[in-house]
Amino acid sequence: MEKEFARLLIEWYHEHKRDLPWRNTNDPYLIWISEIILQQTRVAQGYAYYQRFIERFPNLESLAAAEENEVLKYWQGLGYYSRARNLHQAAISVNGVFPVKYEDILKLKGVGTYTAAAICSFAYNQPHAVVDGNVYRVLSRFFGINEPIDSGKGKKIFASLAHDLLDKIQPALYNQAIMDFGALQCTPLSPDCTVCPFKNRCFAFNHNMVSSLPIKQNKTKTSERFFYYLLIRDNGNIYLNKRTENDIWKNLYELPLIESNTALAVDDFIRKQEFASIFKENSVVNVRLLNKTKHVLSHRIIYADFYELEAQDIKMDFLSKYTRLNMADLELYPVSRLMHNFFENFL
Ligand code: SF4
Repeated sequence: MEKEFARLLIEWYHEHKRDLPWRNTNDPYLIWISEIILQQTRVAQGYAYYQRFIERFPNLESLAAAEENEVLKYWQGLGYYSRARNLHQAAISVNGVFPVKYEDILKLKGVGTYTAAAICSFAYNQPHAVVDGNVYRVLSRFFGINEPIDSGKGKKIFASLAHDLLDKIQPALYNQAIMDFGALQCTPLSPDCTVCPFKNRCFAFNHNMVSSLPIKQNKTKTSERFFYYLLIRDNGNIYLNKRTENDIWKNLYELPLIESNTALAVDDFIRKQEFASIFKENSVVNVRLLNKTKHVLSHRIIYADFYELEAQDIKMDFLSKYTRLNMADLELYPVSRLMHNFFENFL
């Protein structure tokens, strides 16, 4: 059964495979970068980022030697900035030598079982099966597995089955094949099962369960946050804050922020203590709402209001806390997509 599954899959792959540029390499560094980028973006968009990234950081040494700010700048727009920070820290940690063993690759910061298996198989042709969203979908449908893919038990079942099915002679080819099969043929919504080489033996197709598999137990909860950003102009300069907490956008820059648990009208928000800590009493002469936007992240919705302020007197402790920069230098600072869009349209 395993051999037949792998054979059909590889046969399908030879006919339908995507021509992805990073497949033409067995350099573990390049594979690592491409896999991390592709975890969060579509192939077409990811390719442009990949090209730019490896042009600037073509190897471990160049990435390790870079400033984190610059690495984040090259990541800007991709989201999940902790992945860029992890790449950078991992590059520093290996002293110029990419590990070869699965266990050692798994120890790299930000590398999980999927990425370690991808690097081991694509770079070194080691027999490690990748298990990503595509693989969960294909296996759960074909074998009719209704164990949730995000449960501990489900993960073990799928990992073990994926390993059993893996073609141990050509693991790279097999892994590429099953991921492409999931991405192109056994797609999340309305796969065209009538042209599928597995249709006669596919459990889901023959039991009318294609749309109900795979099963997930936890629906991700989404939280709402309310951000009030302050644009304070000061003779061609503005103020930026570097986010340093363990939170979204760590180490990226943004306008001074007042955050609230609830939506606030302008009168409420200028009465907040944080606001009073920036400006001396009665010093704000004008508050103007420039933009209101809703920014959706994977587990959060950010409601962001951008206010431009004119003030006669800003408190000294505020000035020392933030970075004052000329607007012409804004390009040098890594920022979130939310901030980038605002700067593009309102500065
Ligand atoms: S028959 Fe449909 S559900 Fe089954 S493996 Fe093929 S595409 Fe997926």
